[in-house]
Amino acid sequence: QFQATGVQTCFHGRHIDPQIYKDLNGTNWRLKDYEQRGGYGALRKILNERIDPATVTQTVKDSALRGRGGAGFPTGLKWSFMPKNYAGQKYLVCNSDEGEPGTCKDRDILQFNPHIVIEGMIIAAYAMGITVGYNYIHGEILQTYHRFEEALEEARAAGLLGDRILGSDFSFQLHAVHGWGAYICGEETALLESVEGKKGQPRYKPPFPASFGLYGKPTTINNTETFAAVPWIINHGAQAYLEVGKPNNGGTKIYSVSGDVELPGNYEVPMGTPFAKLLELAGGVRKGRTLKAVIPGGSSAPVLPADIMMQCTMDYDSIAKAGSMLGSGAVIVMDDSRPMPESLRRLSYFYMHESCGQCTPCREGTGWLWRVVDRICNGHGKPGDMDLLDSVADNIQGRTICALGDAAAMPVRAMLKHFRHEFEARIRRPDLPTSDGKQPVPA
Ligand code: SF4
Repeated sequence: QFQATGVQTCFHGRHIDPQIYKDLNGTNWRLKDYEQRGGYGALRKILNERIDPATVTQTVKDSALRGRGGAGFPTGLKWSFMPKNYAGQKYLVCNSDEGEPGTCKDRDILQFNPHIVIEGMIIAAYAMGITVGYNYIHGEILQTYHRFEEALEEARAAGLLGDRILGSDFSFQLHAVHGWGAYICGEETALLESVEGKKGQPRYKPPFPASFGLYGKPTTINNTETFAAVPWIINHGAQAYLEVGKPNNGGTKIYSVSGDVELPGNYEVPMGTPFAKLLELAGGVRKGRTLKAVIPGGSSAPVLPADIMMQCTMDYDSIAKAGSMLGSGAVIVMDDSRPMPESLRRLSYFYMHESCGQCTPCREGTGWLWRVVDRICNGHGKPGDMDLLDSVADNIQGRTICALGDAAAMPVRAMLKHFRHEFEARIRRPDLPTSDGKQPVPA
């Protein structure tokens, strides 16, 4: 039975049985089940032993837990940015607006083990002296939102949330908020705008949320999987968590493996697991075909050819050294039947569609990228299109308010770097049908 605990389930990889997805009404996510598995033990330990909040933050720092939402920023360090002697309201926010193409791990944690996120958030709030928190849940998984609400009710009724938690003098109110499915609301400042009831558009930074966050107050934002890792760290200690992974990359990570594999699904493995091992857990490349390329960290991460990817281990440092990003851990596997111009067309359409339109390079540039790739795929590519794509990507990257612009530009540059020959071949053969079998659109 799957228990998406962030770290407690399996250090050797575990495939989520597809049957579990049919069991959405199963009850093993409930408070009594979570407590039977030792749930809320970390919170009780902190409150009973009156562990100093600074010690909790230091423990998380020492564990080398890094943000699981995509940036990989050290979690304990982020917690230490929260002003300590601030007299006004401070906020804690969980980013469950999981929208990165290929990523589906936070959804499963919330669906099958919501209390671990609640416990992780309570501990984080205690460490930073925060009394109010929100979990912003992606709008297209409303069923998960309702489950989280039920879990919150259970926790409140048991005295684990609310005023004077478990009889201590610590109080924390936690609420769920659901978005409406906009990818950009996963960007932390757009998320804050959305929680405030405004249009979800990223803010200029600085100021950063640690000083000017929700309602202009100091705010700490972490990803769902990040919070889910916290109880294990408190129960077992920072060193134990660190040793599960590798230096600077503590613990385990859930990878959403999709694309051309036999067993797509979520796999929790230690940081530093060889990619080849992860691929093996996912049943290998589908139908015995040959691995061509992998996008290792969600659609924003640059694609890597098979030979480079097979040398990588699954952790932030190894993937960065190879020229990509671990990101949210969405591993998109492509076999030798995938034409790269078609793959890039899909990615480019996504970013054009999801651009919030605030800044010109992103609003206009994502449209340019898609139109040029689209015309190449439709048999109307021009000899200068490679350079044009490169130029447009160059004019987007690093010139926008938020990272969506970079996320749109980086896949283009990586595709041109590693698979330029496929684009050039497509331009030379305008008569070829598109990969979905359609004939080229007449000029
Ligand atoms: Fe909006 Fe794109 Fe600018 Fe981000 S980069 S603020 S998504 S227009």
